[in-house]
Amino acid sequence: MSTEEDPFENFLETLDEAAERLNLEPNIHAFLRRPMRTLSVAVGIVHDNGEYNIYDGYRVHYNDIRGPCKGGLRYHPSVTLNETIALAGWMTIKCAVVDIPYGGAKGGVKCDPTKMSRTEIERLTRRYIYMILPLIGPEKDIPAPDVYTDERVMAWIMDTYSIFKGYAVPEIVTGKPIELGGSLVRKYATGKGVAVVTQKTMEHLGIRNHPTVAIQGFGNVGSWLAKFLYEMGYKVIGVTSVDGGHFDKNGLNIPQLFQHFYDEQPWSEFKGTDFIEDVGEANKALFESDVDILVPAALEDQITERNANSINAKVLVEAANGPTTPNADWILNEKGVFVVPDVLANAGGVIVSYFEWVQDTQAYLWPEAQVNKELEAVILKAYNEVSHLSKKEEITMRSAAYCQAVERLAKAIQLRGFFP
Ligand code: GLU
Repeated sequence: MSTEEDPFENFLETLDEAAERLNLEPNIHAFLRRPMRTLSVAVGIVHDNGEYNIYDGYRVHYNDIRGPCKGGLRYHPSVTLNETIALAGWMTIKCAVVDIPYGGAKGGVKCDPTKMSRTEIERLTRRYIYMILPLIGPEKDIPAPDVYTDERVMAWIMDTYSIFKGYAVPEIVTGKPIELGGSLVRKYATGKGVAVVTQKTMEHLGIRNHPTVAIQGFGNVGSWLAKFLYEMGYKVIGVTSVDGGHFDKNGLNIPQLFQHFYDEQPWSEFKGTDFIEDVGEANKALFESDVDILVPAALEDQITERNANSINAKVLVEAANGPTTPNADWILNEKGVFVVPDVLANAGGVIVSYFEWVQDTQAYLWPEAQVNKELEAVILKAYNEVSHLSKKEEITMRSAAYCQAVERLAKAIQLRGFFP
């Protein structure tokens, strides 16, 4: 990994820039540059074939200045402590940008869930939760889905925690199945939030007439986003996944691709498109496409100083966490690409997580329409605040989002004071 691709370094670079702009008090700045608590765990499980394997797992509380720590759990071969710290830092900023009363957390297990059976993933989840038990709780740290973890995994988390408590605790985790107190909207909330933010950006920039879009990633975020944008009249001309990319300059048939994907049909067997099997080439073609909007909806460090110059999109909407390195960000700004930062664009997931937690703690469930309405209200309010600050100070949307968040965090630190 080059230093450019160290996610925590990248997080700190953006944080430092905001601190400097705000003339932040040095003690508060130092406080915000460190995660308050990190835990590394050895997650041992017996595989279906009888073999015993130990996986590295982490849970990081970046800080709980504004409320309980909140953040997803990721299963991926590239998980590291450093990455988990960065992701927990981004959660802290994200919750502050959209002004929900949470601090930031993240968890991860370094493993390849695509090569594990359902029962192996269940054992891994339960063992991991057992190992991080001292850290989590509805009033201190509430996990949620992230890359390669879904509502099934959340159900096992809820069950494992509840067994140790001796009673059902639905509010320990968000992104659960509806039957266990999950929110009707959480499944598509991140995609929905990105769609709302994208539409707002189009209005703001005056881009009309079926804007064209290219999306990297067709997981929980990318697939729902593509569906919403298609329904809103956007033309999705390219979509890539880890198994290659589908392209059609006249617009892909997203409802069919969506169905194909959720029917668990092989990605490469979707017919009627220009298909590029090699992932590297597919992403290169996607990033270079002449579109109005490019949406990275996969992992961090996808747009770096190596490929930023070849991006032709007018707007970059970051659905993934940390997809653009600071060097690439600088290049994009020089090129005049309008960047909607991750901490704002993909906040729909955690906003609806917050609603789910509120509903569970009150044991009172809201109708779907109410969740959607409140999601839109919260994310659009944040968009307007960031956009206003960005215009007023003549800074990028990312700088404005960080300044907004850091100000809120600094205020909370001042009010709480340094203990002892
Ligand atoms: N994993 C999501 C994110 O990165 C959601 C976290 C949550 O809902 O707590 O924002």
